[in-house]
Amino acid sequence: MEQTRYFGYLCPKCGVGVIAGRTTFSLQAAAARIQCECGESELRVETDGVKFRLWVPCGLCGKEHQAELSADALLTGRGVGLACPETGNLTCYCGEEAEVRRSLETLALTAAKDKEDTGESFTDNVIMYEFLSELRDIASRDGISCTCGSHRYGMKVRRAGVDLTCADCGGTLRLSAATDEDLDNLCCHMTLTIRGREG
Ligand SMILES: [Zn+2]
Ligand SMILES: [Zn+2]
Ligand SMILES: [Zn+2]
Repeated sequence: MEQTRYFGYLCPKCGVGVIAGRTTFSLQAAAARIQCECGESELRVETDGVKFRLWVPCGLCGKEHQAELSADALLTGRGVGLACPETGNLTCYCGEEAEVRRSLETLALTAAKDKEDTGESFTDNVIMYEFLSELRDIASRDGISCTCGSHRYGMKVRRAGVDLTCADCGGTLRLSAATDEDLDNLCCHMTLTIRGREG
């Protein structure tokens, strides 16, 4: 049976979620282009037979990101997410249709929240500053991981907290960073574990 793999990204020009499927056969046979209906952005996928290279229009920072995936990662399994190096958030997802649709919804929310957040300060700037430096300490010990086994994650700073999102399964750990208690709470953690999405 011919398998179809889906690709999802957020169009940086019109803000719409773009999703399209290609058969594994066609992906291996020729370069693929997935265009937004507005015609202003397209995701490209090319292969040299071993690896796949992707050019992803990023709906979060507006740039184009390049990524390389093994044939295995792209053509089998539930899927893989690609993170935006500027914002640390997932910006593209490839894999099974249901996974891609779900990730695209999250992505649209993230983009919307980003717009809302601009210009806003933190609930408590001092706490947030301390919180982030503590978080960096934990990260530098490789203390942040996901129950799915991944050590790759994205970080999103909100007004009163920080979200850590697993780059592999999309699981999220929401940390509150508004009060002294929040800070004390973080300081007693040697490690942080993101609860991965169930497989
Ligand atoms: Zn568009
Ligand atoms: Zn980006
Ligand atoms: Zn995970």
